[in-house]
Amino acid sequence: MTVQRVNPFRNGGKEHIELLGGKGAHLAEMTKAGLPVPPGFTITTEVCRHYYSSGCQLPAGLMNEVLHAVAELEREQNRQFGSAERPLLVSVRSGSVTSMPGMMDTVLNLGLNDDTVEGLAQLTNNRRFAYDCYRRFIQMYGSVVCHIESIHFERVLQKEKNLAACADDGQLSEASLARIVQDFKRIFEQKTGNPFPQDVKKQLQKAIEAVFSSWSSPRAKVYRKVHHIPDNQGTAVNVQSMVFGNMGDSSGTGVLFTRDPSTGEHVMFGEYLMNAQGEDVVGGTRTPSPISELEAVMPDVFGELSACARQLELHYKDMQDIEFTIETGKLYLLQTRNAKRNARAALKVAADLVNEGLITKEEALMRIDVQHLNHLLHRSIHADADHAVMAMGLPASPGAACGQVVFDADQADEWKRAGKPVILVRMETTPEDIHGVIAAEGILTLRGGMTSHAAVVARGMGKPCICGCEALMIDEERRLLISGEFAINEGDWLTIDGGSGKVYSGQMELKEADIFPELLLILQWADQIRSLKVLANADSPLDARKAKEFGAEGIGLCRTEHMFLSPSRVPIVQQMILAEKESDRQQALNRLLPMQRCDFEEMFEEMDGCPVTIRLLDPPLHEFLPNVEELTERLTKLRTDGDTAGERMELERMIRRVRELQETNPMLGQRGCRLGIMFPEIYEMQIEAIFKAALRSIQKGITVLPNVMIPLVGHVNELYLLRKLVDHVADQVLGEEIRNCPYKVGTMIEVPRAALTAGEIARSADFFSFGTNDLTQMTFGYSRDDAEGKFLSHYVENKLLPNNPFQVLDTEGVGKLIEMAVIQGRSRNPMLTTSICGEHGGDLESIMFCQRVGLDYISCSPYRLPVTRIAAAQAYIRMQWELQLQEAAV
Ligand code: PEP
Ligand code: MG
Repeated sequence: MTVQRVNPFRNGGKEHIELLGGKGAHLAEMTKAGLPVPPGFTITTEVCRHYYSSGCQLPAGLMNEVLHAVAELEREQNRQFGSAERPLLVSVRSGSVTSMPGMMDTVLNLGLNDDTVEGLAQLTNNRRFAYDCYRRFIQMYGSVVCHIESIHFERVLQKEKNLAACADDGQLSEASLARIVQDFKRIFEQKTGNPFPQDVKKQLQKAIEAVFSSWSSPRAKVYRKVHHIPDNQGTAVNVQSMVFGNMGDSSGTGVLFTRDPSTGEHVMFGEYLMNAQGEDVVGGTRTPSPISELEAVMPDVFGELSACARQLELHYKDMQDIEFTIETGKLYLLQTRNAKRNARAALKVAADLVNEGLITKEEALMRIDVQHLNHLLHRSIHADADHAVMAMGLPASPGAACGQVVFDADQADEWKRAGKPVILVRMETTPEDIHGVIAAEGILTLRGGMTSHAAVVARGMGKPCICGCEALMIDEERRLLISGEFAINEGDWLTIDGGSGKVYSGQMELKEADIFPELLLILQWADQIRSLKVLANADSPLDARKAKEFGAEGIGLCRTEHMFLSPSRVPIVQQMILAEKESDRQQALNRLLPMQRCDFEEMFEEMDGCPVTIRLLDPPLHEFLPNVEELTERLTKLRTDGDTAGERMELERMIRRVRELQETNPMLGQRGCRLGIMFPEIYEMQIEAIFKAALRSIQKGITVLPNVMIPLVGHVNELYLLRKLVDHVADQVLGEEIRNCPYKVGTMIEVPRAALTAGEIARSADFFSFGTNDLTQMTFGYSRDDAEGKFLSHYVENKLLPNNPFQVLDTEGVGKLIEMAVIQGRSRNPMLTTSICGEHGGDLESIMFCQRVGLDYISCSPYRLPVTRIAAAQAYIRMQWELQLQEAAV
């Protein structure tokens, strides 16, 4: 079935999502399934792309096709567009391919003018309702199409509510609404210089253009950037016959999630408002009722809604987020989409759907957003922390956050840039606040429900959020947040718990997240499926324990220099570096040896039966010494304060030595294996410590698998030489026990020359571990310490680079070197083990690449392990699916 550029809902389906957008595709899908959807049509994303490529013009002939489709709606609905007899009204809504809640514009009740409003009043026998629709339409059209700030309309509305002494729009009388319409039209004319348009065809064209234009609104652009949605995807526009939730007490509108989007519980969750239109629910201007209460109010409608919800879940095999309207007791569905959910709910829903037999484990794993899962390791308030609760709101998105109160999005953004953690506090958020929401640690709104904009967006980002905290008040003038005896100034600290809805004044101690049953189950599935092994970068016995807890299958990188950094060890390391005589150096090394041995022994014990990859000293030696400025300052002070000759001489010697060791380009200098070759006694001590630890562990019955890793090799001769040293020391230390210690010697591949000559190097290596931090640094020639602060962010923002290559592996350049090194290395040494241990090991796209080139394992920091295990499973599944597709194509 082909999709037309103006495509009726009865045509197409979810397979046409690229053209119809999410909303259009699912409306078509629901229409085909016989669900109660008001008829309408979709203008495709292709038209949107044309609109932009032709300087914001609709394609020639499009409006004729639109009017043709409207004529069809007229026939179906037995109404006329623009007629005072039985006027047809439509909604005009955006609908992008990837859901972007609230980021683009909508116009409801289109088709009203001074004549049709009277027709609507007669048709419905409800003049109050007709004028309510008209005032809503003028406001929406005014703000969406003509960019009139809503505040001008809101002021009029508030004035009328004050006059009528009512709090709620729904209580306004027909006369008030008629006055509001007159005032709104006057505002429209004042602001635009033209009367409110009475030609409904013109209204429709302008609304369609405005919705296409909203694709490039600042908030939509920011949202796309954060969610990596391509700018050329475009939005579709859906034009649909209106149904009315504001037709009186047997009408209403609501949002329904088929499961709880915060916990994943299999219970219907949502909110509704009687006598209201959709924007009232999502906009958070009135506080809605929980969906469970609808059962008592309208049992039949509730029953039908529950059945539709079940049908849609079975159809999509996923949790749905459904918008509905009840028009004088009849249910209509206006939208369904896969529901946004927080990371915890995502895991629970995925696990439950597998257990309910709806999806496979592979499908469940592929549905986990690993980026999002990172947020799962949500913080909570430390159990011991004791503070008075200042107020209580709706627990809209779990996790605790702590920050300084800020009352507007710009300020939030500014403070965040200045390094301050902030809590954004607003009456309610609108999509314009997106940058503030992104900047904030957490969000607190005084109005709005669990499906309000703030709640949906915060949940989508995994940020703590509390909504509808009506006990609080904002004093805009004095920049104060007030609740009873509490008065919090802007800039004061606030702690929120999005899981309980509690707000606390002050800064509270937070604690990191726990692992819970669904995560464990999904991790188990990931472990069964993935082919890439997952090891940890761990530099101490404590790290090793954490790594084991998070499922590490060994240690892929132990940076031994980190073992030198404790306050008790630094002086010995400095003594070793400053030593002028070999014997003095040896003395210091002799003191370091048992310390290293002890650490290695404990790590072998933690990792009993798993490989432990120990990298010999890597950084340049001057990194262990204070810098020259600091030393010179100390020396000056010593001279003025009076000194002992001994102290002064010691400092002078240190300064001399630092100067000797100083290099112009230390990252390219005497570090890694170069250091080991120039100071063999340092590496010898480390190797001896490794094998002495191994020996002791073997004697305790532990299975040890030590991997000795030589850093920064660029030429095979470097590795050849140092490998001989490792073999020699191992032989000496282990003696007979060498049989029980199947150690390996390998190298990091982090210098481009090593990758280019990997075949040669592989002859002396049992394993390669790609140090992609240095490999990226040296391939791009970007200093890994400076680039991000200087030019790299600019590069990424201006799309000179698709990503920061220190975060996401540059598969085209650095990746090419890796791929080549793997192929060449394996061709010379089929037993070669290959892995990655740079920061890229925790990044999904980079892991996908590791899977494609066939690495054996990934090594990453312990806290990233759960995410990496799932990402590795996803990489495997994706590769299998791609293979199946290729096979099917042949
Ligand atoms: C690397 O360069 O990728 C690496 C793991 O080593 P380091 O970050 O310690 O230089
Ligand atoms: Mg490195």
